[in-house]
Amino acid sequence: MSKKENGRKIKVAFPHMGNIYIAWGSALRRLGVEPYIPPYTSKRTLSLGTKNSPESICLPYKLILGNFIEAIEGGADYVAMISSPGICRLGEYGSGIQSTLEEMGYHANYVELQLYDGIKGMFRFLTELTGVKNPITIIRAIVFAFRKVFAADRMENLLSYYRAREINVGDAEKAFRKGMKLIYEANHYKELKKAEKQASTMMRAVEIDADRDVLYVDLTGEIYMVQDPFSNQNIERELGKMGVETRRTLTISSFLRDAIIPKMFVKGETHLERAFRLAKPYLKRDIGGDSLECVSDIIFANENGKDGIIHISPFTCMPEIMSQNFFPAMRENCDIPILPLIMDEQTGKAGYVTRLEAFVDLMRRRKRRKEQKLAEASK
Ligand code: SF4
Repeated sequence: MSKKENGRKIKVAFPHMGNIYIAWGSALRRLGVEPYIPPYTSKRTLSLGTKNSPESICLPYKLILGNFIEAIEGGADYVAMISSPGICRLGEYGSGIQSTLEEMGYHANYVELQLYDGIKGMFRFLTELTGVKNPITIIRAIVFAFRKVFAADRMENLLSYYRAREINVGDAEKAFRKGMKLIYEANHYKELKKAEKQASTMMRAVEIDADRDVLYVDLTGEIYMVQDPFSNQNIERELGKMGVETRRTLTISSFLRDAIIPKMFVKGETHLERAFRLAKPYLKRDIGGDSLECVSDIIFANENGKDGIIHISPFTCMPEIMSQNFFPAMRENCDIPILPLIMDEQTGKAGYVTRLEAFVDLMRRRKRRKEQKLAEASK
């Protein structure tokens, strides 16, 4: 494929999943291809995706299809999709999306990245997409994209800290957006380092109540749902308003460490390795999707004294239905409140926020009881 068609740069779009556009956009720019960032996922995206998808398919499929339709309408020449073989429906996404787009009369080119081919697969994919064959240039672009992923995840953690304590609701998110723009625009490593420093300075300037009684909650579940604020109805923002600091257990960084970055460059135990170790009493093998990680994340959160854990999954997601089957036994064996949230296009905001409020109340009461007991014991 050439980087130019009819004298103009080709435009390549990926679907949204939280801030992942920062990474792929940067890698493509470095390889001379214009990234086309589709309009951020909205109700229109969902409606386009839902109208043209099989009814029972999982929510991420519908949103990704909607992103592609909007990208092609906006002028993208190529749409690029990640895929993986295995037990869950992700392996079917590619053929379904490709044939739907063709049936709808959209003639954008479709390219696919096989996730579990690791760094080699990524190399092949980028060569096909950009026409660049020089391995050094490609590796540099990949490493740069990874660095952006790590920087973006560090910023997400900062956001979570400040959002749970901010005096004026919304300040932390405003600072975060400005910071992420700087990170996105950085074109090489020095610029990225400077951008991240500026971004964290902006975040640290947000006025907070450092003494606020904050709850600590881990978010686990299907990775797309955990990462993507549209599909999880901005759960972190809602919890932040209630004084909850969240931590995503499934991040793009952890995924890169598990599936893409060669083992010799990965320090310490990865998320998946920890998952195999901790989930053993309930689950001895990977049954697809993120179920093994989810089961282990509950044990990890419990061992680390978290106030609660929320499991977010799309309606009809088989691997997450399986992990939810372990929750009753886990509730008996672990001393941590678990809130399972199953989302689809029908999930209404009001009922959902009420469930979060009730969960936060429960965690606060539980925390107070624990503190009282401790105080009485120390008298
Ligand atoms: S993990 Fe679940 S939601 Fe995600 S692609 Fe697989 S079946 Fe669909």
